[in-house]
Amino acid sequence: MHFEEIGQTVSDLFFCQTKFFTPFYLADNFVWHIFVLLNDTTMTNKTDIYNKIRNYNGNNDFLRKMKDTYQKWGRLTDKQFAVTEKIILNEERQKEVDVTTLSPSLRAIVEYNGESTFVLDLKTKYLTYRTLSEKQIQKGYEAVDRENQKNSQVNMNIKLVGNTIKLGRKIAEGIKKEKSIDFHPILVDVTEVMVMSNKAFKLKAKLTKENGGICRCCGKTLTDEMSRMTGIGPVCSKYVGVEHPSNKADLPQYREEINKKIDEVGEFEFWIPKRGIVEWKGSAGVMLKF
Ligand SMILES: [Zn+2]
Repeated sequence: MHFEEIGQTVSDLFFCQTKFFTPFYLADNFVWHIFVLLNDTTMTNKTDIYNKIRNYNGNNDFLRKMKDTYQKWGRLTDKQFAVTEKIILNEERQKEVDVTTLSPSLRAIVEYNGESTFVLDLKTKYLTYRTLSEKQIQKGYEAVDRENQKNSQVNMNIKLVGNTIKLGRKIAEGIKKEKSIDFHPILVDVTEVMVMSNKAFKLKAKLTKENGGICRCCGKTLTDEMSRMTGIGPVCSKYVGVEHPSNKADLPQYREEINKKIDEVGEFEFWIPKRGIVEWKGSAGVMLKF
């Protein structure tokens, strides 16, 4: 090998080093820095998450279990840690929502802690994307409301005498259909408060035998004398099943017959919203305030 050739080789080598080694070294250094940086952030996060799990006081069963595991072993497995971190970060993100700024319907969904997967899915969706459609909010709220109603139901089974209420046309219509009767029970005597929820009653009642001053089967004002004396109009009376009396002498017999019919028809059970009861004459009227 000639000297020039050796020189060339050395210079080649040198060139080679500058070309490859130095950049490689720099790149390596660079990667190392990135690694330290990443590792540093990861370590901080990890300590942070471990601190959070150590001090966890929430209701999440999994996190409670992980707290115990951490206390016992001083660490979590990678898989346990990953799930724990995910849940903790998710819980923190949920806390960021200021529920007081939300509409009542949306708030009911966000604050929901029941078991309906439908509502829980909507809640997660909102907390993740911060948006729900009007329809989703409405449906979600209805589901929460139904559940609240159900949960607030208390069996009362209170028997009553002398409690007359006036039903709305819609509810009377519903009873008429369900019982297959020909008249609308508008003025009814409540015989039992079966169930009470925060918004409604389930009642047992029968058409009243009392004269309520309006037609007990349609709620209309009674104009002619006989109707005022019977508390029911002639047309409605026919629907109950008794011909309206034409003179005062027939009144006692008429009352007997119509009362018999009312007993035959018997009691009907129905749900009624509290706000749907316009008037409650009698001792149990106070229940409307609960
Ligand atoms: Zn009538």
